[in-house]
Amino acid sequence: MATTKGDDILIVKTARERKRMKVVIVGGVAGGATAAARLRRLDEHAEIVVFERSGYVSYANCGLPYYIGGTIEDPQALTLQTPESFLARFNVDMRVNHEVIELYPESKLVRVKNLITGEEFDEAYDKLILSPGAKPTQPRLPGVGLEHVFTLRTVEDTFRMKEFIDRTHPRTAVIAGGGFIGLELAENLRELGMEVTIVQRPKQLMKPFDPDMAAFIHAEARKHGITLALGHAVEGFRETGDGVEMLLKDADPLSADMIVLAIGVTPDTHLAKEAGLEMGIKGSILVNDHMETSAPDIYAVGDAVQVNHLVTGEESLISLAGPANKQGRIAADNICGLKSTYRGSQGSSVIKVFDITAASTGVNETVARAAGLEVDHVILSPMSHAGYYPGGKLMTMKVVFEKETYRLLGAQIIGYEGVDKRIDVLATAIFAGMRATDLKDLDLAYAPPYSSAKDPVNMAGFMIENIEEGIVRQWYLDQLDALQIEMLKPDPAVTLLDARTPGEFARGSIPGFVNIPLDDLRDRINELDAEKPVYVICQSGLRSYVACRILAGNGYEAYNFAGGYRYYETVMHDRALIESARPCGADCR
Ligand code: FAD
Repeated sequence: MATTKGDDILIVKTARERKRMKVVIVGGVAGGATAAARLRRLDEHAEIVVFERSGYVSYANCGLPYYIGGTIEDPQALTLQTPESFLARFNVDMRVNHEVIELYPESKLVRVKNLITGEEFDEAYDKLILSPGAKPTQPRLPGVGLEHVFTLRTVEDTFRMKEFIDRTHPRTAVIAGGGFIGLELAENLRELGMEVTIVQRPKQLMKPFDPDMAAFIHAEARKHGITLALGHAVEGFRETGDGVEMLLKDADPLSADMIVLAIGVTPDTHLAKEAGLEMGIKGSILVNDHMETSAPDIYAVGDAVQVNHLVTGEESLISLAGPANKQGRIAADNICGLKSTYRGSQGSSVIKVFDITAASTGVNETVARAAGLEVDHVILSPMSHAGYYPGGKLMTMKVVFEKETYRLLGAQIIGYEGVDKRIDVLATAIFAGMRATDLKDLDLAYAPPYSSAKDPVNMAGFMIENIEEGIVRQWYLDQLDALQIEMLKPDPAVTLLDARTPGEFARGSIPGFVNIPLDDLRDRINELDAEKPVYVICQSGLRSYVACRILAGNGYEAYNFAGGYRYYETVMHDRALIESARPCGADCR
């Protein structure tokens, strides 16, 4: 079509005359489906074809465990979209049961196999997006693939597990792996009335949490009847008459009616590797911040790609739905000429474990130290909302920061209501590069049913400011052994003080501590040797903080315990249980 404007002749191509860009997407769930929808919103005329190996697109991976447990009853609720709804809404050609089996970057083709008919064909592309996700890690162990050994990734896996449960009514389940999927499945199988054991080589569940914070998760799992066999390595699986055994390295086999393998995920990236794309850590695809791979016009997103960790700057794999969705959108933006960039992942996550909520963001203390950072932390136990308003619940919050700079590095929170809100505030603060002391200045919403005038996040900031200003010095659980050894000497060089009430002290205390309740401390301060440093504890850390200030005001060197007695009791109890527990073997059935 030609039109005139003054002397110029403008050639205006109609939409139909313009060459339609063709985008092929491998994988039609979190990253792939998001990319397809965004592409369509940006380019009404592009040809968009999505190949999905499974029989479903845009399914709710995160909801799969809850279908098995019956919380989600309608299987249709698991599929957010269908190929038909995607075609109607977005004019996207979603082809399920189609596996891309080879990439030809030179000729810009992919080879596709129709898994129903067996037919193979080539599909050309102008731009290609890889969003193949990650598959359950399947170690080369004897018995992987047995009928009673399940993994959970797709809707089909879910239906297979559900059908087995409905048909055979298993009474016992052993889950290898105590990460998100293992723990969610444990809860859901337990809700069905099964005896559930989680086996895990590390001595804790849920790696995003430090061992001390994981102790609270362990306690909740045990409270609801889950057996934890921590510190045990799986060596294989063996069919028995009507069930299956999990073989362990240093313990008797565990016998069960079904086993789930949930020890982690591995990027599903063989196509990219075989096509010669540059790879990142642990078999992931290397991409730049526009989500471009090393091959021209090929993008990759989601669980399959390597990301930069926002806090440590390290190369990382973070398999979560949020990053996959954002990266899908960013790939689509760049294909359509918008220069969006992915700024990195910080691993913000939240999980329901029976009645509690456990959430984390950034790095924990263990990871930060492994990354070479000098760190400190505070632990507090605030109420979810004002104490005088009914229904408030305690949460345990650990905030990790860099020692010299006070840069906020990460947070972990375990509790009930309000955990998700606080973790998101902290995630935002980390993303914004805030100092940990800035938390005290955040202007957060307050009314008694929701929070306190000093929100838990503000409280963490106050505590960290007190450390920076030298108003408070902390002592930590890993110093306790040395302190107690010191107390065995005839004239110990320290004093250990418990500032709780006599009643609390009588119900449980740490050997070596003397009890002077906070409210009596001023009157009884002369009972404490002013020449010796005083290590103080109370139930939550608040009264011991006040005690430290009284002591400091009277010339004592005082240290406040990071965590409080409630924290100490949970962590120590957990350690004792882990050390004493032997998995209940085949003769326990
Ligand atoms: P996926 O969403 O896994 O999609 C990849 C798709 O690609 C798959 O459907 C696969 O069949 C297809 N595919 C692979 N190769 C090919 C090929 N060659 N040809 C055609 N198709 C192919 N994250 C959270 O943040 N919160 C949660 O609560 C949470 N819960 C989860 C629970 C479960 C049971 C699972 C399995 C995952 C959970 N996740 C959760 C993780 C989250 O689902 C993933 O991080 C996210 O889906 C990754 O998106 P993706 O697009 O990279 O891969």
